[in-house]
Amino acid sequence: MVVTRFAPSPTGYLHIGGLRTALFSYLWARKNGGKFLLRIEDTDKARNSQEAAEAIVKAFEWLGLEADGEITYQSQRDDIYAKYIEQLLSEGKAYKCYMSKEELAELRETQMANKERTMYDGRYRDFTGTPPEGVEPVIRIKAPQSGEILVKDGVKGTISFQAEDILDDFIIARADGSPTYNFVVAVDDYLMGVNEVIRGDDHLSNTPKQIVIYEALGFDVPSFYHVPMIHNSTGKKLSKRDGATDVMAYKEMGYTPQALLNFLVRLGWSHGDQEIFSFEEMIELFNPNDINKSASIYNTEKLDWLSAHYIKNMSNDALAELLEEYGVILTSHDKKEILLDALKERAKTLKELAELVNEIVATPSSYDEKAMHKAFKEDSVEILNAFGAKLTKATELHLPVEYHSLMQELVDEMDIGFGKIGMPLRVALLGKMGGPNIDVIMAVIGRDETLLRIANAITANA
Ligand code: GLU
Repeated sequence: MVVTRFAPSPTGYLHIGGLRTALFSYLWARKNGGKFLLRIEDTDKARNSQEAAEAIVKAFEWLGLEADGEITYQSQRDDIYAKYIEQLLSEGKAYKCYMSKEELAELRETQMANKERTMYDGRYRDFTGTPPEGVEPVIRIKAPQSGEILVKDGVKGTISFQAEDILDDFIIARADGSPTYNFVVAVDDYLMGVNEVIRGDDHLSNTPKQIVIYEALGFDVPSFYHVPMIHNSTGKKLSKRDGATDVMAYKEMGYTPQALLNFLVRLGWSHGDQEIFSFEEMIELFNPNDINKSASIYNTEKLDWLSAHYIKNMSNDALAELLEEYGVILTSHDKKEILLDALKERAKTLKELAELVNEIVATPSSYDEKAMHKAFKEDSVEILNAFGAKLTKATELHLPVEYHSLMQELVDEMDIGFGKIGMPLRVALLGKMGGPNIDVIMAVIGRDETLLRIANAITANA
């Protein structure tokens, strides 16, 4: 069974790069009928892990991703880590190192002066003497001192690390007994049954160390997929300055989960030249072996394009429901179909759509001066009043086409161009130029509101 995991360090929110690896891990587990686990790497106790976990679960809920089983918190697993450290000590695969901070600093300085790689020199590796007094030892693992460590990576191929170039006997537990990062990652991945690790390639340098730990503990090494970073348009690693990094900020900006997930799945993975993927298709087609070897470029226009696509193709009921989050209550509006059909091709995000809806359903409280000036000519009030009279008399008034007929009648009778009624009426209805067809607007707000807006505009123009 394929078991993947997402293992965020709790920074308080889920960021876009993390979400991408989470999505890849999720898709791969689902495709294989396996498990997708969540582990909170909260060994830095100063941070509030519960809050971070909640933020991540909330983001997952919004996106429709769900982790299997209980969440694992590293902060609650000290006893487990201690047991494995004890095991390595008793098997002679790790040892206590009594080197003081001062000694270590001195060693570093000498190595730097000699232009050597700065590393621990192994002085306590085979120590059998009496430990110096007053020094709480750290625990170091006996790392291989020569030979190569192979990282078999599903994205990058097999990478060979020379032990002597990269490894010293690194610390697996600090003087206060707390285990170090690479140690807990390896122990947890093993104990959680994780056999396919998909993570950012900023972790690649940790992998040989984790392999040393797996091997020392006699654990099977999982498969690795190190995913190249996401870059901004100038080729640098994506930073907060390039846009929102908190996933929930994308919700605030009005992106739908489908658009964001579709956008992310294509950042570093492709299937021919297909751009649009339903969730089911992502599960069916995703394979970590197809992850690109080079960095991917974050492109806001692409996200907007996908977002517009999903909004345009969404049912009006679903849209109305989503719009509630953006302060627009349309679910029981009897003209919601007409309104959303007219607007959903014009919005890149739900937030924009909400703004467009609000522009129509709210009575204008002011008028764009330029638009008013341009639209209102000498005869405009007369024309609007005549149209108002027609509206009042009309019997059937529900659909845009019925409003349109009334306008047609008016221009025929008065022998005027359509703009003569269209322009001032548009400004009366919206307070400005722009927006969808006027007949649509009138059908949505209804006769009484149309009459009110006409009267208001005439007053304002007086
Ligand atoms: N906790 C690490 C991070 O948030 C991920 C560790 C891993 O995936 O192995 O970057």
